[in-house]
Amino acid sequence: MVKKRVYQSFVVATNPVGESDLLVVLLTRETGKIRCIAKGAKKSKKRFMNVLEPFAHIDAVTRLASRSDLHFLESGSLKNGFESVRQDYRCFLGASLCLELVDLWCREGQREPEIFNLLWWYLKGLEAGRDVLVSTLIFQARLLDASGHMPPLGLCNKCGETITGRTVAYDPVTGQVACSRCSSGDGRYVMGVSSLKSIEFWTSQPLDKVFRLRINGLIMEETWKYLKTVHSGNLEKTPQSYRFLDELIK
Ligand SMILES: [Zn+2]
Repeated sequence: MVKKRVYQSFVVATNPVGESDLLVVLLTRETGKIRCIAKGAKKSKKRFMNVLEPFAHIDAVTRLASRSDLHFLESGSLKNGFESVRQDYRCFLGASLCLELVDLWCREGQREPEIFNLLWWYLKGLEAGRDVLVSTLIFQARLLDASGHMPPLGLCNKCGETITGRTVAYDPVTGQVACSRCSSGDGRYVMGVSSLKSIEFWTSQPLDKVFRLRINGLIMEETWKYLKTVHSGNLEKTPQSYRFLDELIK
């Protein structure tokens, strides 16, 4: 028996399989991340014209073999290709990082409506001309939060007191913060309290208000380092896309 389904999706990644097929990773609104085989997609581009590009927002028609968990991608119709994001080098890099993080964080078959909407918000924002670095910072902060790995930032994890003073030290794996009285160590993982407050603002406000905060270069640098460190620490590897983006931050 064959079950067909239509998923509202974003194309997260594609990888060649054998001579002619593609393995396509989709983030779907309905069931989160799924992986499907697009038969013949590598050889004949016609059937999936523009549909299998990264960031593409598509309606994906899939078939699930009844005896396996494998989906086959039968066809797709393009809703938004986010062409302008693909053609701008900086936007392309930022969006590539976001897709890589989504792929790494999301488990197959687990519904992730918050992450789906976050990715949609991000791509629409870039298309509308939002600043790519600020958007990517907000995306990283909210993704960490949505995946349940954003530590409480308002309290020192050692003495339990409310954070006061100008700087905090943080654990490079968990991201937990310690106040200046409790922090020892080599001082490599330190950020100013304005950076900490910025991350708190980005994760606590509704998405239509997050751009209200003005940030300077130092906050951008410190929050970038914090978010990169904590994502990489939790994932136990540094996502490849960071390599290209670190240059832009400088
Ligand atoms: Zn403390």
